[in-house]
Amino acid sequence: MSAPPLTEAALIVRSGRVEWTGPDRDLPAGLADGPELDAGGAVVLPGFVDSHTHAVWAGSRRAEFTARLAGQAYDGGGIATTVAATRAATAEELTTAAAARLRAMMRAGTTTVEVKSGYGLTPESECRLLDVAAAAGVRAGVRVTTTYLGAHVVPDDRDRAEYVAEVIHALPAARRHGASWCDVFCDEGAFTVGEARRILEAARAAGLGLRLHAEQLAHTGAARLAAELGCASADHLDHVDEADARALAAAGVVATVVPVVALYTRSAETGQARRLLDAGATLALATDCNPGTAWCESMPLAVSLGCLTMGLSVDEALRAATLGGAAALRRSDVGQLGVGARADLVVLDAAHEADFVGHLGVQRPVRATVVGGIVAGVVAD
Ligand SMILES: [Zn+2]
Repeated sequence: MSAPPLTEAALIVRSGRVEWTGPDRDLPAGLADGPELDAGGAVVLPGFVDSHTHAVWAGSRRAEFTARLAGQAYDGGGIATTVAATRAATAEELTTAAAARLRAMMRAGTTTVEVKSGYGLTPESECRLLDVAAAAGVRAGVRVTTTYLGAHVVPDDRDRAEYVAEVIHALPAARRHGASWCDVFCDEGAFTVGEARRILEAARAAGLGLRLHAEQLAHTGAARLAAELGCASADHLDHVDEADARALAAAGVVATVVPVVALYTRSAETGQARRLLDAGATLALATDCNPGTAWCESMPLAVSLGCLTMGLSVDEALRAATLGGAAALRRSDVGQLGVGARADLVVLDAAHEADFVGHLGVQRPVRATVVGGIVAGVVAD
């Protein structure tokens, strides 16, 4: 991690921020006067920052899931199934479902979550999803930042150029509905590099930060676009090459990998995480929680798969899941536990972080999650 791990350590929280950290024996007597959470010798980490999710949806993609198990390849086509179900759901139904997912994330140690729209695909329905994401975050008690992903796919019944124009036209409304970011699914079968460039340049002018789904299904040049535009992050990157990786690193674009997706879509692991780290890029690990290609709220599973399928070390994976995620969201107040940071932390159900990563399928990987100094969930033994 960023600083060497402390053992026999203590941490003092005041007003939702870290006020002091150090060895237990040096605890300043005057400061340690509030209620205490005893980690009982377990590892304490900064709360996980899940910087890429599509956590607001309705319906099921079970038909697509079973078809894929029978050998059908993933091409992004199932998104339309979720769009139909999501449009048909009420705001309350969507908020209830999204809040349940965010609570599951929190129980597994996530304290900050990026949530994208993208299953509405009209300006009104996309803005509704942005409102739902923010409301679900409040209900669940986790930090949520929202992203406008009107450019997820071109709806079947729409003219392509008209739809791109509509996405651009809706950017100020998305901003008014609380979006901090604009993202584009730039890939084969989705939006071209030229379309993504137009949308993202307009998004920047509208005051939104930029993110990009890049190089997931094919090598399209999307990573280079992310570097050229200085996006906060480029995500997926299965097909990134060494020159792309160097361009992302040089431009300070955080490279976000989503190992659950490769598993879920049964696509081959391509070694992109190591390629990106070798090029000097900052790596983030995220769940990509979504109904079609990563029905998974668990950052612990993403971290384990980052090690087991992408070849990351335990330290690299945990750093990517905390500091890396924070960097992808351009935040310095989360993802670390230095003095002044948000008191967002997680008590692992493990005496060593390698045990946390190496133990798969654990029902309760985390003993407690703390958000802003508030103990959000203590799991009794
Ligand atoms: Zn995604």
